[in-house]
Amino acid sequence: MVYSTDGFTWTPSAGRREGLPTIGVVVPPTHSAQPQDDIQDVIVIGAGYAGLVASRDLATQGKKTLLLEARDRLGGRTWHATINGFNYEMGGTWIHWHMPHIYREVSLYGLHNDWVVTQNPGGKEDYFTATTGSEQRNMSHDEEVDICGRVFRAFCNIDGDDLRHSWKYAFRTDQSPELMAEWDKLSCKDRLDQIRDQLSAEELSVLEAQLVQMGGNSLDKMGLLDTLRWWSLGSHTPTGLNDIALHTRLRSGNSELHRRIFEHALSTGNLSYSFKTPVQRIEDAGNVVTVTTRDGQTWKARSVICTVPLNVLSSVEFSPPLPADKLEAAQQGSVNKCNKVHMDINGPDYLSWGSLGIPGKGMVSAFGDRLTPADNSHLVCFGPDPKTPLGISLDDVQAVKSAIIHLLPKEKQNEVIVNRIVSHDWNNDEFSKGTWCYLPPNFTTKYLSALQRPHGNILFASADWSDGWRGWIDGAVQIGMQAARQVMLRQQKVVDVKKKVLTNGIPNGI
Ligand SMILES: Cc1cc2nc3c(=O)[nH]c(=O)nc-3n(C[C@H](O)[C@H](O)[C@H](O)COP(=O)(O)OP(=O)(O)OC[C@H]3O[C@@H](n4cnc5c(N)ncnc54)[C@H](O)[C@@H]3O)c2cc1C
Repeated sequence: MVYSTDGFTWTPSAGRREGLPTIGVVVPPTHSAQPQDDIQDVIVIGAGYAGLVASRDLATQGKKTLLLEARDRLGGRTWHATINGFNYEMGGTWIHWHMPHIYREVSLYGLHNDWVVTQNPGGKEDYFTATTGSEQRNMSHDEEVDICGRVFRAFCNIDGDDLRHSWKYAFRTDQSPELMAEWDKLSCKDRLDQIRDQLSAEELSVLEAQLVQMGGNSLDKMGLLDTLRWWSLGSHTPTGLNDIALHTRLRSGNSELHRRIFEHALSTGNLSYSFKTPVQRIEDAGNVVTVTTRDGQTWKARSVICTVPLNVLSSVEFSPPLPADKLEAAQQGSVNKCNKVHMDINGPDYLSWGSLGIPGKGMVSAFGDRLTPADNSHLVCFGPDPKTPLGISLDDVQAVKSAIIHLLPKEKQNEVIVNRIVSHDWNNDEFSKGTWCYLPPNFTTKYLSALQRPHGNILFASADWSDGWRGWIDGAVQIGMQAARQVMLRQQKVVDVKKKVLTNGIPNGI
């Protein structure tokens, strides 16, 4: 299998090695379906889910499409590496049939029987460990579900009605605008302060750890609105979000689905692509858009769909320049700078174990996912932004190891043998500069529609400003699909106008 330069693994015998094997790498990295000098119908920038779906929808509808991607692989913030027969999801992982756009892709490409589940029962350490400061308590998973659900509900129940009416339709964008504006002013810390008195020390720590895991930063930097939206997406129930968004994943991995979308687009004969090709500048002259890459190549198209993430947007030059609101939004960016780390523990015992802990030693959660083919326990672990007091840098593998071991039951900490660590440093990755999107206070109402707005012939499609499952894989698929449709409609409109000019002389209504 080919190695991507992304990601790293650490083992006791070999130490740290950069780069990971994945089916996502595209070899050879370039392919031209038409001469480079031709004007393309569309250039799509970025081969994450948004860019792949947009490219597929355009190519299958006959558009000459060029896909430009900075990395050596498909998938952007979602890809899997395969080591010793086990698929490690390095970024976006869990998807569900209650995520309608991605489920459509899963079923379209015949992966509807390809599910596996994280956190399976039957392991020896089949319980949950809550770490509250220096205190620890092991409890049954039933008690875990009860506590985690209860505190999450208390946090989200800001209107006393579980948002069942004020945010009834999770995907609708025009509900309760006054309430949304009011809640958008609050950080997660503000909201926590409102209910703090109602919680025991353990409940407080379980809730804080859950929230930090969700937003990857300190609670004062995290806007309340994203958590409320997730509650609504989780069907307004205490465990809904967890059941939908942290449970089921593809056995064959996200990169398998990327491959199928990509190969479908290629099979049309309409798709050209260039990987390892970072875009530097996008210049819209009105009738044609010129895209210039870092190595000085230029391509032209009638429309561009730009899918670069929010935290990367300001590194691309635009002419005419982006309007002030878009630029401000890009500069403020998503606050989620979490670390996601895989750790394999020797032996099968930790298959069913889970934990949350604050302040921790750099990680706030760890839980059993599955067993590797060698029968070792594979844990997935999360910790906040390394720049916050609770975070740690991925450069220090020993610190990462200790931070995860700190969440294990105290009496077991000395006996575990760590076989492997696998991770990718998304925060120091110039093409993501963070992980899944989590917006700060006062952002959504001010900037969301600006981010969604086209800029001349350039459309913007990223999970970071989708509706619905914003910040998730589903949001990326949704907005990629919508952008492709908009391009189809816009280009059809131009054709219609040209036809009118030819038949009538002067077009009406433009
Ligand atoms: C650690 C982690 C865990 C996550 N867990 C989940 C989860 O369990 N479930 C879930 O639903 N979601 C999860 N997400 C979120 C999900 O992965 C993202 O929301 C989604 O993949 C974003 O897709 P996208 O296409 O909008 O952006 P991206 O995937 O970021 O795609 C944008 C592409 O643009 C490219 N690019 C950037 N700059 C340039 C440039 N200058 N020139 C050319 N190309 C460029 C990038 O390399 C990238 O390939 C997670 C994300 C991370 C990082």
